[in-house]
Amino acid sequence: MTIEEAKILVQSINDYQKNLQVISNDDLRDVVKTESDNIIAVYAAVKEFARRLTIGDVTVSATDFDKSLEQDGFDFIELNGGKAIYHNTWSVMGTKYQWEMIHYDEQLLAGVLLHYGVATEMATGEGKTLVATLPAAFNALSHKGVHIMTVNSYLSKRDYEITRPLYSFFEITSGCIEYWLTHEKNRKEAYNADITFGTNSEFVFDYLCDHLVLQPQDIIQREHTYAIIDELDSLLIDNAVDPHVISGSNLFNQGKQYLLWKNAIQELLHNPSLYEVDKVNHHADFTTAGIEWLNKRPEKDKQDEIFHLSDGEEKTKYWQNVRKQLLRAYTLYQRDIDYIIYDGRVVIIDSTTGRRKDTSRWEYGLHTAMEVKESVCVQSDSNSTASISIKNFFRLYDKIAGMSGTIMSVSDELYAQYGLETASIPTHRPMIRKDYALRVFKNSIEKYNAIAKYIIDVHRRGRPVLVGCRDILQAKEVAMALKNNSLEITILDANDFGLEAYIISQAGKSGAITVSTSMAGRGTDIKLDEQARNTGGLAVVAADLFYSQRVDMQLKGRAGRQGDPGSSVAFISLDDFLVGCLNENDQQILSTICSNTTGNELKSKEVIPLMYKAQSNRDLFYTIIREKNARKDDMIAPQRAVFYGLRNDVLTSDDVARKFVSSLFSDDSEIALYKTLISFLWEKVRVLIKKMHSKEKVKTSFTIPLSCHKDPYAIVLDWRYIEELDYFQIQFQRQVILQSYDKAWSVFVKYLSEDLDDIQIDNLKVDFDKMDNNVKSLVKDRLLYSSIPINEKEVQLNDTDTEQQNATIRQSRTQLERTALCPCGSGKLFSQCHGMYEHKTRRR
Ligand code: ADP
Ligand code: MG
Repeated sequence: MTIEEAKILVQSINDYQKNLQVISNDDLRDVVKTESDNIIAVYAAVKEFARRLTIGDVTVSATDFDKSLEQDGFDFIELNGGKAIYHNTWSVMGTKYQWEMIHYDEQLLAGVLLHYGVATEMATGEGKTLVATLPAAFNALSHKGVHIMTVNSYLSKRDYEITRPLYSFFEITSGCIEYWLTHEKNRKEAYNADITFGTNSEFVFDYLCDHLVLQPQDIIQREHTYAIIDELDSLLIDNAVDPHVISGSNLFNQGKQYLLWKNAIQELLHNPSLYEVDKVNHHADFTTAGIEWLNKRPEKDKQDEIFHLSDGEEKTKYWQNVRKQLLRAYTLYQRDIDYIIYDGRVVIIDSTTGRRKDTSRWEYGLHTAMEVKESVCVQSDSNSTASISIKNFFRLYDKIAGMSGTIMSVSDELYAQYGLETASIPTHRPMIRKDYALRVFKNSIEKYNAIAKYIIDVHRRGRPVLVGCRDILQAKEVAMALKNNSLEITILDANDFGLEAYIISQAGKSGAITVSTSMAGRGTDIKLDEQARNTGGLAVVAADLFYSQRVDMQLKGRAGRQGDPGSSVAFISLDDFLVGCLNENDQQILSTICSNTTGNELKSKEVIPLMYKAQSNRDLFYTIIREKNARKDDMIAPQRAVFYGLRNDVLTSDDVARKFVSSLFSDDSEIALYKTLISFLWEKVRVLIKKMHSKEKVKTSFTIPLSCHKDPYAIVLDWRYIEELDYFQIQFQRQVILQSYDKAWSVFVKYLSEDLDDIQIDNLKVDFDKMDNNVKSLVKDRLLYSSIPINEKEVQLNDTDTEQQNATIRQSRTQLERTALCPCGSGKLFSQCHGMYEHKTRRR
């Protein structure tokens, strides 16, 4: 679909909509039903409803659908004597919202392109929330599910709450997964809706989780039909730097191991000849002298007392990693930039969104190293059990499309990685924002002084100011500089994001000064008050250049929305991180200019291009990481497809599971052995379940601890069916197969996340076959030799502080209370025994 072709459609939509103006509200509602495959009619009807809603409430004959909405307590609808009244004001993110939008032609145009799978560039503030209503409503009519994704939870909820009445009027169901946790029933309901809102990472997370469940009814996503991706470049480009990983099972705590080396590493840091740090490439390592120094340390002899590993090579590798991660923790990661201490924990801050990643942990012990460095309580790690790259996740969809203010500069990458065509839409009104030239200072002290001076000046004129910072630390520095000048400011960062909606609603008021990290960088809609508009609109001040020009543009885009007045200016200093991304020659040129300049500000013409060069060097650095990432995931993509296919078959078909099991047995004696075991286990399990049920009457499902050759695992059973042998056998078989596959797959995933050379890559196919064989023997073992531990001695549980655990309990929705006694009869709390493994964490 070209823009020219789309323009013709826009004309037809407008013509159609003019005719709709005379029909009744009831008839308008019907248009969408009777013309559900006619894009012109549906887009026109959506626009016409939007128009009617700008005039006042819209009243229709109440249907069951309307009744259910009212019963659910939504404030946009009211029932009155057989009529349903759709109000034109309702609450959005806790504040009153009034509908005032009718789709402009530019929005119709973008809406058409989105239906045809085009990545559409529309300047910031042009109304992309409204654009999405058109393709979403149209595609939702097939009831296969439309996913609307964006970068953060706040935007997702906001857009859902703004557009929900419009979809509801046409009896299209919508939901937002961001309100619910994974195991909550409402999350699945949100997926069952015609339109599902959420952040991309949650969509990916649920996809991976769905391939770890043990019961078909626990799957929460449906097909992947159509994704509308708001802030598309952020999701498909910036977010693709890290693969999405989900971790679970094999919980282990490495606190002691890392603590052992803490002092040594701290001491080592005082001697620069012992280690090397390259901040630009995010790399730190010991020098040969450093390694020798470490080898002479007394800690080396204590290693075995703390953590025993028998394999010599494994041992060396393990301890090398401990020391290296500690070094990295101290030299490459900084508090309030890469992470914050929140609630006594080290919490990662997402560098693209500025938000907390509460459930993520850094991999390979890095997170533990960080906890040891910060002297906070060390949390347990768990192995990666599944992972997928952003690119391969989006390939699951039949169709993807999306929009953003910054797309054209990455159109080549979007085409190469996702096969996406791109198009750019003109703005509705001319843009009148003034973007001033970058200002470069010799050092950050001078930079912050200049920022303060600039802000004092615009603030005095009554304009609201938004200061965008690279990270929390920088936001603190800017805040300090402003407070020293007695200015009153509001800070928006990951520490108190609960106030986000309120802070944003105040940020466009005359006199407001808001200092924010990347949290306000994308998507936020800052509305000006009358006085702010008259005094020149929002003044955006960037306290730094970001790692890509797209990110700078997004920040600027908070001003000058919809033809509003506004301005932007960015500040940088030579000691900022980005300048380090220049090559030596360029840095030399800079320092020459610097020494020839008398003032604090570098005004020479050559300087600004050099700053942008540094920025594009940084951008390139990430592009290379993304490509490498995509290539690696591509290698496992075929295996994952086979693996997930197998898994789904076993999950959903008892027959497949049964056949799988019979294929494992080589002779009748094994079959006989299996049959004996089944009836023996069934017997014991029934006794156990009855005991558990009498204590916990409200529960239907119970976790049953089992073990095979002292290797503990568990299955989940429903007490209501436990008297049926067939039920028990099917569940036992299925859960054993699934868990064994998952266990093997997680080892495979871990292996893949290491740096592989070409030969290893070639061997992947072979390794996958090896994995398959291992699974079969594990399943067979469990089917023939499982036992049910009824007292402590039989349950071989290691002290989690020191040893790796081997249990594979992944079900988190049907479990025992963590404070209940463990059903294995150990007398310990469930949470300290078999329940110890019931964690599910995410990390990058
Ligand atoms: P974007 O996502 O493109 O940055 P938003 O969807 O946040 O833009 O919309 C920006 C502002 O423009 C919002 O305040 C919105 O209410 C307003 N707006 C969007 N479309 C229209 C329209 N057709 N008529 C009036 N106001 C609109
Ligand atoms: Mg938006």
